[in-house]
Amino acid sequence: PRRPIVAGNWKLNPSTRAEAITLLKLLAANFLNNRNTNQSADTPETVIFPPLPYLSDAVEILEGTGIQVGAQDVGPNEKGAFTGEVAPSMLVSAGCSYVLLGHSERRTLFGETDEEINAKLHKSLEQPSLKVILCVGETLQEYENGLLESVVDSQIRKGLDGVDPAVLMNDRVIIAYEPVWAIGTGLVATPAQAQHAHVAIRNSLANMYDTEVAGSVRIQYGGSVTADSTEELMGENDVDGALVGGASLNADSFTRIYDGA
Ligand code: 13P
Repeated sequence: PRRPIVAGNWKLNPSTRAEAITLLKLLAANFLNNRNTNQSADTPETVIFPPLPYLSDAVEILEGTGIQVGAQDVGPNEKGAFTGEVAPSMLVSAGCSYVLLGHSERRTLFGETDEEINAKLHKSLEQPSLKVILCVGETLQEYENGLLESVVDSQIRKGLDGVDPAVLMNDRVIIAYEPVWAIGTGLVATPAQAQHAHVAIRNSLANMYDTEVAGSVRIQYGGSVTADSTEELMGENDVDGALVGGASLNADSFTRIYDGA
């Protein structure tokens, strides 16, 4: 059985540290009062991805809540003359246990290639305590042209190139299926659409590795997830969690999503 995982990607929000601290405190209150996210394999694992300047606040304020903290991206280098970059080891030393890689906004707005994502992934996995959420997903045009399977297959193969099967069996990499047409549009995929895509991803993993590896990897759905859509999506066999954008910026919405997962 794969443990559900609910994650909140704050993207470039909120604008000030004060607002971030308010949101973190509300989240901490919700989870400390009613939820014990890390206590059992039946409850969803929970992670939030705030902007870098708020990571330390998040680690401090969420301590004891079971909510883990991750970064939305990381660089492929360890240290040295790389102005503006952040290394995976730095995230670990700041208290992060996750890093998000290959988000469609990184790919489309910042021109990230599968090869760059793969380099970041390998560097991240050198940190024993760091897990990666690797995002894949097709655009609307690709979807309409029947290219979903081939697009995610290529993203999976290139993104995971050179990754040992044991790494996947050890739950070090989670896949997030985020169809670009569903991100920030309010157009959530139907449970059947999500299930179809997740099966395609699992088939890619089975072809690249084997069915045991494919069956062990957790696959989250992301794209306009709200509290109203979570339970139905999570009811599908191959949907193991949710990666939430907009709705993760409201503590009660994110908590309700957690409760529905
Ligand atoms: P929305 O939930 O705002 O559609 O964003 C999804 C997403 O991109 C999460 O990484």
